[in-house]
Amino acid sequence: MQPLPSVRVCCSAVMSVSTSSFAPLEAMASAQPTATPPPVIIGAGPVGLVLALSLQQAGVPVVVLEANAAGAMHGDGRALALSAGTRQVLERLQVWPLISPAITPIKQIHVSQQRGLGRTWLKASEHGLPALGYVVSYGALMQALDQRLQAQPDGVDIRTQCAVTGLDVHAQAADIRYDAQGTPATLTTPLAIIADGGRSLEAVPGLQRETKAYGHDALVALVETELPHQHIAYERFTPHGPIALLPNGDKCSLVWTGEQSYIDNIAQLQDADFLQQLHVAFGDRLGRFTQVGKRVRFPLKLSKLQQTFLAHAVVIGNAAQTMHPVAGQGFNVGIRDAVALAENIAATPAAAWGSAERLAAYQAQRTRDTGRGLQFTDFLVNVFSNDLVGVGLLRGAGLGLLSMLPAARSVLVKKMSYGS
Ligand SMILES: Cc1cc2nc3c(=O)[nH]c(=O)nc-3n(C[C@H](O)[C@H](O)[C@H](O)COP(=O)(O)OP(=O)(O)OC[C@H]3O[C@@H](n4cnc5c(N)ncnc54)[C@H](O)[C@@H]3O)c2cc1C
Repeated sequence: MQPLPSVRVCCSAVMSVSTSSFAPLEAMASAQPTATPPPVIIGAGPVGLVLALSLQQAGVPVVVLEANAAGAMHGDGRALALSAGTRQVLERLQVWPLISPAITPIKQIHVSQQRGLGRTWLKASEHGLPALGYVVSYGALMQALDQRLQAQPDGVDIRTQCAVTGLDVHAQAADIRYDAQGTPATLTTPLAIIADGGRSLEAVPGLQRETKAYGHDALVALVETELPHQHIAYERFTPHGPIALLPNGDKCSLVWTGEQSYIDNIAQLQDADFLQQLHVAFGDRLGRFTQVGKRVRFPLKLSKLQQTFLAHAVVIGNAAQTMHPVAGQGFNVGIRDAVALAENIAATPAAAWGSAERLAAYQAQRTRDTGRGLQFTDFLVNVFSNDLVGVGLLRGAGLGLLSMLPAARSVLVKKMSYGS
């Protein structure tokens, strides 16, 4: 994928006229030349597509530009942990029935630390919930979202193999330049929504990004275990970093984090040695580890925009905030961005799509949830990933305390399910 070579903010005026309409885009272009052009989403990842479907449900037309070919991500096996709140969103969008055969519910979460006392259990039954979360592969989720849009495409104009190459934000609109399968093209929109996962758009002038590299990598892989997972997700804190094992079908999805040099070492081990090292780090709860699939690694960072919008442009999902995967929060925060922005756009007259006031209202609504998600994951990484004796005792005491306080567990489960 090509990086966006230029993103400019300039002040020359671009005309746009107001009329809201939900007619197909081509029809709008010919029959209503004065209609307001639709909002444009850059990136058809899960966050971009949830936004597109939410706008469709609200009767707002939208264009989506995606660099990849249709279906390119359907085989991506990375495991996402969906919260109860994300399930509700997918139910409302009629996507849930399409992914339910591919999901694995998490009935319990077990939190522990290597070489230390203290552990805690979170149980769905204790909180009157059917599950604490749901594991699904990125590919299965993308397939379900695409299937849902193919069955009911009204008002959503998805253009695949269209990599955005530049964004010029003017006083009254944004111009998006993209490569339409080899042909340069431009779209003018009152609102450009950047949902590219932070993969190609590093900086928008006027928007300050704060980045903290943890110096840690995550290694993800599917593993098989001697004992069945019984729908339990495990979070184990080790001196190198947290290890998560999520139930996924009859296997487990492993997220093994640690300093880059440490992950370098385990990434290159032969399968048998890798499985043995994992057993040492994780312990005996699932018996021996018997098989490991393809190992994929990625660097971990905390990254956030101080302000997520300019007039006529807004950034959502992983592009707006990237957090450590320790508590499975990042993806769900991104979905809540998409829902909140769709509600904001739907409640805004077309003439004011992209207005700074409306986007400021969107940001005000999202700041607390995003900030809490970033703080919580950063706190867990800092407190649970160091080997100081005093800190080890304190976190053991913290886990022990949590296991004795049902009210505290209830608050934690609520925040993890629905955000702040
Ligand atoms: C390698 C990797 C492994 C991960 N593993 C896990 C995990 O195990 N568990 C977990 O919970 N989270 C994981 N994450 C994080 C998780 O994938 C994100 O939280 C989630 O994908 C965010 O969704 P999004 O839609 O914001 O961005 P993305 O899923 O990144 O989607 C962005 C979309 O934008 C498109 N795009 C990018 N640039 C352009 C452009 N210039 N023009 C047009 N389209 C463009 C991309 O092709 C993509 O389709 C992982 C992330 C990575 C990178």
